[in-house]
Amino acid sequence: MHAADKFQDIRDAVRALCAKFPDEYHRGIDAQRGYPEAFVEALTKAGWLAAMIPQDYGGAGLGLAEASVIMEEINRSGGNSGACHGQMYNMGTLLRHGSPAQKQKYLPKIASGELRLQSMAVTEPTAGTDTTKIKTIAVREGDRYVVNGQKVWISRVQHSDLMILLARTTPLAQVKKKSDGMSIFLVDLREAVGKGMTVRPIANMVNHETNELFFENLEIPAENLIGAEGQGFKYILDGLNAERTLIAAECIGDGYWFVDRVTRYAKDRIVFGRPIGQNQGVQFPIAEAYIEVEAANLMRWKACELFDAREPCGAEANMAKHLAAKASWEAANVCLQYHGGFGFACEYDVERKFRETRLYQVAPISANLILSYVAEHLLGLPRSF
Ligand SMILES: Cc1cc2nc3c(=O)[nH]c(=O)nc-3n(C[C@H](O)[C@H](O)[C@H](O)COP(=O)(O)OP(=O)(O)OC[C@H]3O[C@@H](n4cnc5c(N)ncnc54)[C@H](O)[C@@H]3O)c2cc1C
Repeated sequence: MHAADKFQDIRDAVRALCAKFPDEYHRGIDAQRGYPEAFVEALTKAGWLAAMIPQDYGGAGLGLAEASVIMEEINRSGGNSGACHGQMYNMGTLLRHGSPAQKQKYLPKIASGELRLQSMAVTEPTAGTDTTKIKTIAVREGDRYVVNGQKVWISRVQHSDLMILLARTTPLAQVKKKSDGMSIFLVDLREAVGKGMTVRPIANMVNHETNELFFENLEIPAENLIGAEGQGFKYILDGLNAERTLIAAECIGDGYWFVDRVTRYAKDRIVFGRPIGQNQGVQFPIAEAYIEVEAANLMRWKACELFDAREPCGAEANMAKHLAAKASWEAANVCLQYHGGFGFACEYDVERKFRETRLYQVAPISANLILSYVAEHLLGLPRSF
């Protein structure tokens, strides 16, 4: 069904690794609400999570296109890249805006797997998507910053050594532009937890390790400021195009997984003396879902191409994420529907993947916010907020 592409070597290698972690593995981890430690460790050891780290720092020096294939294959194999995708794009923030000393200190260790940079803390309970309203504040005191505030939905903190933190360094009331006055810091979680930072896990619908964070006079060495003070919001935005494109690829991996599974099931399941897939009422929604996944995939490649050519790609990254999230959700619904009752049985893995792919309608950016971006920035419609 799927033609080979120029990334076939990467696909084959990632597939071979993923094949060692079959459905039962991911199902078991989901049931325990555990973390796929052995899987992430195997991906790290094989160098896949260091794909985008330049070779000078011990990584593979590959582009976003290759990284996106790795994430796609994980999801297409029945796994969930949500356990480990953070490092792919968080590392980019450090790479683009970190000082030579910071890069030298951290990137080789991230590439080797000695350190994990899986977390990024932006979202706050009272600000929501309106990021410029964040209240977490970092005040410079001599050779350190002192942080107070709160974050919510911060993922993988318990399976990461480092975290990128966005905080205000100048209060909103004192800046000319609301996006000014925010800064990003590299937080060493091994130092911070229990010494100014408290982590409270949030039980949620997906097996996605995510947390509330509370900062009470957390001290961060001033040398852990990334880039210039006050410019952090811009740096975070820079990284979001990579994040959105990678998530698009994960949704596409999910989409193919759902289409493959439901196609196989619809060929095998005999009701009224014939395979259910012989009924056009069943065939057409599956065909429709496949078409949507294929179409979304085209926008994903366009976003990757622009990103890797260092061209502006905000529009394409957002549209790829939107199309792919919609396509995977449609494929998920079709897959669940035509498995009948068995779609609800955990041992078929459909309900797990269904829950997992639903997240991407909301996070890391909700569908409405993408539509609003396209309306305002591409179509020139009046600004709404
Ligand atoms: C499992 C999970 C993991 C996450 N991991 C991280 C993480 O690691 N780091 C991090 O920083 N954040 C993380 N997030 C947060 C995520 O990015 C946010 O949940 C998401 O951006 C939406 O923000 P919100 O929840 O505050 O929704 P809100 O901003 O409160 O919005 C609620 C709803 O209203 C809609 N809405 C709001 N304003 C408008 C408007 N003007 N017009 C139209 N519709 C509007 C939104 O589209 C949304 O559907 C995670 C979230 C989840 C659920």
